[in-house]
Amino acid sequence: MKRNPLSTTTQPRRTMTTFPPSVPGSRPRRISVRGLFIAAIVSVLTLSTLGSTVNADTPQPDGPPDGGDHSWCYLSGFSERTAADAAMTRLREQTDVTTNYPGSCGAKTDVRWTQGDLGGSFGRGECIVRLNGSCDVYRITLAMGTINNTQQPVNQRSKTSCHELGHTVGVRHYSDNFFPGDDTAHSCLRSGEVTGAWTNITLYGNHHRTQHINITF
Ligand SMILES: [Zn+2]
Repeated sequence: MKRNPLSTTTQPRRTMTTFPPSVPGSRPRRISVRGLFIAAIVSVLTLSTLGSTVNADTPQPDGPPDGGDHSWCYLSGFSERTAADAAMTRLREQTDVTTNYPGSCGAKTDVRWTQGDLGGSFGRGECIVRLNGSCDVYRITLAMGTINNTQQPVNQRSKTSCHELGHTVGVRHYSDNFFPGDDTAHSCLRSGEVTGAWTNITLYGNHHRTQHINITF
């Protein structure tokens, strides 16, 4: 008979005799299984508690961005213009940010989109020119090889574009359910690989919009 610790409590007591005799050593086994369940439940509760109370949300270290139009351009070899344009449009529609496409990259173009390998990361948004205490020019890199290896490459590309663009308007990412501020809904600033359970992969969160982005722009 196969021993199944999960079902021992529903078995007739006599079947216990087929197990090692009821010496003290056999009970901790059953207790430890139950203990594992309790420990798992406590962990989940602890995590959700932390998620709702620990919400430190400092601005993106690279920022703050300079105000005014958030202009964008593409570096040579960039093949994801449609995704980048969609991300710029969503940013404009969801926030107070205004955008401008100058046609090519100038010295002061705020966001330069490019692509390349990032050693396993999906994307990166970084300040490449600082001026007078704020970031004048950012570069967004999409790692298309890594993105295309995910379960949902199209959604991943959209999420990563939104996410990295978010860094260029001064907001930080978060993990799991460690929402920024008082938010209880996810946004594209969530870090990690998009799965079927993810929501709001092209949205900026309420906290980021009202307490960070719209204050800067
Ligand atoms: Zn990030």
